[in-house]
Amino acid sequence: MLIGELGEKGLIDRIRKKILKGSSLKSNVICGIGDDAAAFKSTEKTTLVTTDVLVDDVHFVSGTIDGRDLGYKSMAVNVSDIAAMAGLPRYAVISLGIPGNMEYSFIDSIYEGMIEAGARFDLQIIGGDTSRSRNLFIDVTIIGDVEPDMITKRSTARPGDRIYATGSLGASGLGLTALKAGSMPYPDAVERLIKRHLRPPARVEEGRMLARAGATSMEDISDGLITDLMHIAEESRVGFMLQEELIPIDIDVLKKSLAVSGKKPLELALYGGEDYELICTGPEGLIAEYEKRANQNEVVELSEIGMILDRDKGCVISGVDGRVSQITDLGYDHFKR
Ligand SMILES: [Mg+2]
Repeated sequence: MLIGELGEKGLIDRIRKKILKGSSLKSNVICGIGDDAAAFKSTEKTTLVTTDVLVDDVHFVSGTIDGRDLGYKSMAVNVSDIAAMAGLPRYAVISLGIPGNMEYSFIDSIYEGMIEAGARFDLQIIGGDTSRSRNLFIDVTIIGDVEPDMITKRSTARPGDRIYATGSLGASGLGLTALKAGSMPYPDAVERLIKRHLRPPARVEEGRMLARAGATSMEDISDGLITDLMHIAEESRVGFMLQEELIPIDIDVLKKSLAVSGKKPLELALYGGEDYELICTGPEGLIAEYEKRANQNEVVELSEIGMILDRDKGCVISGVDGRVSQITDLGYDHFKR
């Protein structure tokens, strides 16, 4: 059925039923969907709010993406921002702009992906809105919280801190290249990479553990390791040195990058973006503290990849050959764009 035939009331009724079926109300929620405003009891913790809007033809192309993946991803990227503050996601408010000639089944599958992500990250959809719109857009706001002494900002890195990254990098960027190209060599590896692009991880548990282990600043990798680290440098008024040989590159990116994308693995790891791993700064020895806490929990590996410098030292990267290059907005020696 087309959205235009369903009407706004019919659409909202269906969405509401779907969401209520997908999860039971958390005890702190006083009212969820269906009242004038959602209401929940505040806690003693610091409240976190993050929002992200995805627009058809700008952030995704509706004919080429599965609605369920789109819904899942639109939630996960917001959860990743909560993770970067060392917080826990709690509630989501979701608004959609929908063209009248769109099939209801596509919208239905978007909500299914959102509900799946809600269950995965333990957060509840408590409200939202829908509107007729020329282009499909999805606007997700997530509310979370964090213990006041655990919050990890971008502005608190200090010279001498080491730089760390969770997991491995480059898979999402290569997955996107493969997705755009259609058929590809190495179908098994490529499928994994595409999945990594469509279903980003959001390292909530890792973010909590890094804060407890003594991280001084943190950010999630959405734009690419270099660009996101530049944000920390700017906000903290510091410089940094990355070491090429320490960058954790995804194993399939190492093996298949050149054949699938024509790009060097390191380029994808540094500039590919949308890995949704965490980068943080902290004292030497943070890995041991992190691993101690990781004992009982399933978390990804942490790698040391460089060091925070005084601001006047700038942002540099040292190559495997020991050569140090200045990083600019345009990249650096090896990858000038
Ligand atoms: Mg972010």
